[in-house]
Amino acid sequence: MKFNSTRNREIEVTSAFAIKNGLASDGGLYVPEEFPKVSLNDLEMLLDKDYIQRAKFILSKYLTDFTADEIEYCVTKAYTSKFDSENPAPVVKLTDNQYVCELWHGPTCAFKDIALQILPYLMKTSIKKTGEDKTVVILVATSGDTGKAALEGFKDVEGTKIIVFFPNNGVSDIQKLQMVTQEGNNVYVFGIKGNFDNAQTGVKEIFTDKEFCDKFNEKGYMFSSANSINFGRLVPQVVYYFSSYLDVVKSGDIKLGDKINFAVPTGNFGNILAAYYAMNMGLPVNKLICASNRNNILTDFINTGIYDKNREFYQTASPSMDILISSNLERLLYELADKDDKLIAELMNELKNKGRYVINKEMHNRIKDLFYGGFIDDDKTMTVIGNTYKEHQYVPDTHTAVAIGVYEDYIKNTGDNTKTIIMSTASPFKFSKDVLKGLGKTADFDDYRLLEILAEEFSLNIPKPLLNLNKKEIRFNEVYDKNNMKDAVTNSLN
Ligand SMILES: *Cc1c(COP(=O)(O)O)cnc(C)c1O
Repeated sequence: MKFNSTRNREIEVTSAFAIKNGLASDGGLYVPEEFPKVSLNDLEMLLDKDYIQRAKFILSKYLTDFTADEIEYCVTKAYTSKFDSENPAPVVKLTDNQYVCELWHGPTCAFKDIALQILPYLMKTSIKKTGEDKTVVILVATSGDTGKAALEGFKDVEGTKIIVFFPNNGVSDIQKLQMVTQEGNNVYVFGIKGNFDNAQTGVKEIFTDKEFCDKFNEKGYMFSSANSINFGRLVPQVVYYFSSYLDVVKSGDIKLGDKINFAVPTGNFGNILAAYYAMNMGLPVNKLICASNRNNILTDFINTGIYDKNREFYQTASPSMDILISSNLERLLYELADKDDKLIAELMNELKNKGRYVINKEMHNRIKDLFYGGFIDDDKTMTVIGNTYKEHQYVPDTHTAVAIGVYEDYIKNTGDNTKTIIMSTASPFKFSKDVLKGLGKTADFDDYRLLEILAEEFSLNIPKPLLNLNKKEIRFNEVYDKNNMKDAVTNSLN
């Protein structure tokens, strides 16, 4: 399997090279030249396998330049003991039609662990396979969860360093505390004065600044990405769409081959894109429900075919979805345009220069056939949290609640009763303040005390990784202007 850039199909690399580099040299994203197929017979064979076996099967379809032993090494390292559940993505049934796939049983309590626990091993293997002798410096822009998950994944991994940028006033207190107390000898963490889009743009600028990169190449460093633009992030996410489907089949609620919906709380469009990949590989999917918060740029895009980031940016109770530039959308556009790389390069250029692009009718019709876009605001999110607890004794986090709320609107608008899996992207403990508010509790305490209240009053356990967070040493407190991110990199590596 070869990988091309979305902006130039003549760029053609192996998966190891795509993972090592992160972003293609023309600023495009690496995409597989075609979707490998998974048949119903394959699905039947996977039915009785555990998550690790399923992951090995799916990964080997894309990473054809990896040996079976290499894939086995990466998968078992990532998924054997790092998650607090035997299945890293267990499915919980809420109603006859509605399931929740909990993606947050990893070391940082958010869904990004599923990809970021395995990425360092994929990266290490890719470095070795491509004969690279430089130290790989992972640059990460985070809206909160990626940063911590990447730090946990890469800490003390040989041959790598990791530098994380987060919006200083744009993440929850718990998220910030998780990052600034990070342990490890190869980690650097910086706040920036700006929002997530500024951080992401700054990181992309570093990758495409040839002079800057060359300077560090000479010193023995190469830059790479752990953001969801890296194909090594995407492919592990494809696995849990197959796995959660198989688990619902196994429960007897659907038959193999029956279609289901997925509802996905969406920000950078990585998670829901993995669902789209799974569907193209052969997973029976009816609708992909793309759920947004008040930053509803994707809702508008799905409904109108116009992507326009010239709008106000809001901080919401679901900060990991506070995004106006959804990078992975580029990969979807590429497929919808039948791999027309020139067109994608043009659209992305318009996005860069005008902050806006319009897709043609045909692409828009294809989007509307498969995707439903909706959004709910913070007030509604609180109501959904309260109702979900009242009706199902289940406490969702704020991001998951957005997906539940948009799914409920979808039912009202369409009457579709296809069984639906809600992708649950964070533990409620990561966002305790707003979750407690939704549950009708006043929440005027310091953040750590809120965890205890949530646990005590709703008979839940504080996840181990969050225990004693308040007693850890703060190691990082530097804040840079959004225009000076290169200085932070230079200072870290000198
Ligand atoms: C990152 C994240 C999202 C958004 O996922 P994307 O892949 O960026 O669309 C949603 N919820 C939580 C909790 C997250 O951490």
